[in-house]
This record gives sequence, C-alpha cells and structure tokens, in this order.
Amino acid sequence: MDILNRLETYAKVLSQEPMRKHTTYHIGGNVDYYIYPNDILALMNVVDLLKEQQIPFHVLGRGSNVLFGDEPYHGAIINLDKTFNDYYIEENGKVTVQAGCSIINLAVETAKRGLSGLEFASGIPGSVGGALFMNAGAYKSDMSAVVTEVCVYKDNSIVWLSKEQLEFAYRHSIFQKQRDWVILACRMQLKPANVYEIQALIESRRQRRIASQPLDKPCAGSVFRNPKQMPAWKIIDEMGYRGYQIGGARISDKHSNFIVNENDQATAHDVMALIEMIKTQAKKEFDIDLITEVEQLNWKK
Ligand SMILES: Cc1cc2nc3c(=O)[nH]c(=O)nc-3n(C[C@H](O)[C@H](O)[C@H](O)COP(=O)(O)OP(=O)(O)OC[C@H]3O[C@@H](n4cnc5c(N)ncnc54)[C@H](O)[C@@H]3O)c2cc1C
Repeated sequence: MDILNRLETYAKVLSQEPMRKHTTYHIGGNVDYYIYPNDILALMNVVDLLKEQQIPFHVLGRGSNVLFGDEPYHGAIINLDKTFNDYYIEENGKVTVQAGCSIINLAVETAKRGLSGLEFASGIPGSVGGALFMNAGAYKSDMSAVVTEVCVYKDNSIVWLSKEQLEFAYRHSIFQKQRDWVILACRMQLKPANVYEIQALIESRRQRRIASQPLDKPCAGSVFRNPKQMPAWKIIDEMGYRGYQIGGARISDKHSNFIVNENDQATAHDVMALIEMIKTQAKKEFDIDLITEVEQLNWKK
C-alpha cells in the first residue's frame, strides 16, 4: 500500500495541491499531500504515519499568517478546519473550542450570548489553532487574556497544558518552539456582559479595520511585529516605502505594515524581497532589528 492510500484510510487527501488556494496571500507552491483528518483518532494516525515515513509536515489553519514559498513542498499540510470546528459555550462564560474553528465565528457566537472577551478577535481571519500559535491579538488584548488551557497532541499523547505552561508573550507562544505539536482545542473563560455593548464594540472595530486596512487585497495582516521604539508602520513610512512595489508585491498604500498581493500576481519571492529591503533599511536608518510576524513556511534557511 503506498503512502497516499495509507493516508486516505484516515483522511481526505488532496495530492499536489496548490498552496495558493489555502493562504490569504494567494501564494505558495504545490504540496504533496494536503490532509483533512476524519477525527482525532485519524489525526493521531496521520501524524504517526508522517513521522514514521519521515515526511515533513505543518498544521495549518486559515493560512492567514503565512508566507508559503513558491517551490513545491515535498511534505504534508494537515488542516483541521473542516473536521475539528466544534465549540461549547456555557452561560457562565466557560468556552471549549476545537482548533479548526474560525476565531471570528467564535467571537460572533459568544457576543450573541452576552459574553465579553473575544471582541478583539472579531476581525482576525484565522482559526483558533492559528490564533493560539501566534497569541493573536488586537486593541491591547490577545488570546492569553482569555485562554485557560490548551489541548495538544505531542509525544504520542494528548495533554492539557495550563496557560502558565504556554509561555504567552506579545505574538509569542510555546508552540513556536515546538513545531511538531498539534494544537487540538482550548478552554477559555469569558465574562458575562451586555450583548448590545459587546456588539457595538465589535461593529466600531470593524469600521476601524475597514478604514485602515487593505481588506480588498490578498495579504496576511501585519508583516512585522511592533518594536518597542515605534510602530512598524511608522518606521516603514519614515523610510518612504509606502506604496513601494517589487514584482506583484506592494507595500500597501492604506497601511504600510501590510504587504499586499497586487492583482494576484505576486510570488513569495516578491514579498520576501520587500521584507528584506525593509529590514535592511530599518537597521541602517534606525538601528532597529525588525522581526516578522508573518510565518515563513517552505523556505530553505
Ligand atoms: C486582513 C488580516 C488582518 C489580520 N489582523 C490580525 C490582527 O489584528 N491580529 C493578529 O494577531 N493577527 C492578525 N492577522 C494575522 C492572522 O490572521 C493571525 O495570526 C491568525 O491567528 C492566524 O491564524 P490561522 O489559522 O490563519 O493560522 P495559519 O496562518 O494557518 O498558521 C499560522 C501558524 O500557526 C501554526 N498553526 C496553525 N494551526 C495550528 C494547530 N492547530 N496546531 C499547531 N500549529 C498550528 C501554523 O503551522 C503556522 O506556523 C491578520 C491577517 C489578515 C489577513
């Protein structure tokens, strides 16, 4: 039985799948196996099988924080969005949610039930798994403010890790060091509050995003983390790069910490060329080492 047949025992598998279909940048070469495991047992078998066959893999959510290289990726992408997206919401604000659930959907559903805490996430187009990995955040809040425990598949076991074990910091979690762990689910504690006030806050933030972000173009949100000295967009502006374009990739005219895929023609190399140019110049002009927020997958180091 070949590897594809074996994987298909446990999952829906797409072969030679273009990653541009699975990233919000609309960028990325073909991956050998794009895998939707049927359930938790199947997922464990898929991970074990990939490890046994020494096939490299990543777990991906909505691909909204990823710059995936243009070359073919001889490995596998596991995606939990279709089969791991259940959630349970108690009236007292205790939420249990699987990693593939959209964080926007969860924010909407918890808001409807008069639970406050996820307003910051209502415009972040990722999965719960991706949000935990990144400790995604906005408006002075982030995942670490609401998460109490995370369920992980690691070292052949399923374990619940407490928030204290997750090393949450600004756009950082322990998962960025433990690349072969699979985030399965988490528990959060939200606070009961007035439904109309929560929904009004979400709506005002939606308007702010529409006004300030290039949401009509393929992108992956903020490219650089904000250094302590000043916001990344300001550094880029002061260097005069707003609107600068290489190939199909352009520093957004609307928000200079966003790089957009202009007319869907950009390659990962175009985006990377802009990133490298900005980093080099920021070091030269401001002596600041900019750190990318966007994850680079399928890049040779
Ligand atoms: C228009 C726009 C606006 C954005 N605004 C914000 C914002 O305000 N704040 C913010 O923080 N981010 C923002 N982002 C970036 C992005 O949406 C977030 O980082 C989001 O949390 C990523 O989730 P994802 O499911 O898309 O993760 P992916 O991009 O799919 O993955 C990100 C990383 O997480 C890993 N990962 C994903 N799921 C799992 C899992 N189950 N187990 C193990 N590892 C996993 C992947 O391997 C990858 O390394 C924005 C993006 C866009 C396009």
